[in-house]
Amino acid sequence: MLVVMDHKATPEEIDAVVAVIEKKGCTARPIPGGERVSIGILNNEGPVDAGLFLGLPGVKDAIPVTRPYKQVSREFKSEDTVVKIGDIKIGNGFFVIIAGPCAIESETQALTIAEHVHKAGAQIFRGGAFKPRTSPYSFQGLGEEGLKILAKVREATGMPVVTEVMDYESFDLVEEYTDILQIGTRNMQNFSLLRRAGRAQKPVLLKRGLAATIEEWLMAAEYILEGGNPDVILCERGVRTFVHHSRNTLDLSAVPVVRKESHLPIIIDPSHAAGRRDQVIPLSRAAVAVDSHGLMVEVHHAPEEALSDGGQSLYPHQFESLCRQVESIFDILHNGSTSAINGK
Ligand code: PEP
Ligand code: MN
Repeated sequence: MLVVMDHKATPEEIDAVVAVIEKKGCTARPIPGGERVSIGILNNEGPVDAGLFLGLPGVKDAIPVTRPYKQVSREFKSEDTVVKIGDIKIGNGFFVIIAGPCAIESETQALTIAEHVHKAGAQIFRGGAFKPRTSPYSFQGLGEEGLKILAKVREATGMPVVTEVMDYESFDLVEEYTDILQIGTRNMQNFSLLRRAGRAQKPVLLKRGLAATIEEWLMAAEYILEGGNPDVILCERGVRTFVHHSRNTLDLSAVPVVRKESHLPIIIDPSHAAGRRDQVIPLSRAAVAVDSHGLMVEVHHAPEEALSDGGQSLYPHQFESLCRQVESIFDILHNGSTSAINGK
């Protein structure tokens, strides 16, 4: 249930509604909006009677929330969420480009790539310090040393950084260093990790599970919001299908569906979807056209020497071309509106 307050409702009238909700043994979650406050009712066992609220002063409406993912849903919050990382905004017309290597391999490697992508137009740097690898014999990441290198990249370029947090045990450490906490595809339903992310003080980039439905993905995001962290960015990175021409299949149709169902921003990772360099630029173009809120792309200055995912990493000159194409498409689609690619 969502209690929608009149735009002239006073703080006392809002408090009175909260008191009724709490008296019923439920949790009240006020959601400030541009025009009016709404108050979500959580932890109710069974349906709540709208009549409890409709007669109260300052109450405009009481609407049942039908979706299982309550706080993530548009029913609960109709306005787009904008996630802010310093000056960078993601969502509601603000588009972001995130780029960097699959894994942080050395200080020189990270700084070299960071300089290239920053110059080309990336606003946020990516790079794994803890890598989830299919094989235990593959490069697992530099761990804390990788996090320290990410901090140096931020210092040198001014770009915020995003890196994956793989488990509950290392959460505090990763949170200390990074600006955005990435939860990877393999961990989308790691519920203790999601609950910990709900208590985090930093935004979370939640990748779609390898074989997750949109409902399962939104329910995973619900864990984070339910825990008290409203700053979730969803990331579509391809799902497992029967095809062999790409590593996964990029589900672009997820974008309009998620945007209809949820107020959270959604970005696209074409690199892990394609698994091969030659598909990354075309898929990036489509990601802009389908109205996603950003891109996350793997780039390496020497992909043939990369310790992971070299085959899908763009060369710096290709990333530069990608940025120009993305900007052109964005301008055509959003000409005259308030939408913007960050920093442009
Ligand atoms: C990554 O972005 O580094 C990564 C491992 O992606 P995914 O979880 O989508 O496989
Ligand atoms: Mn990768």
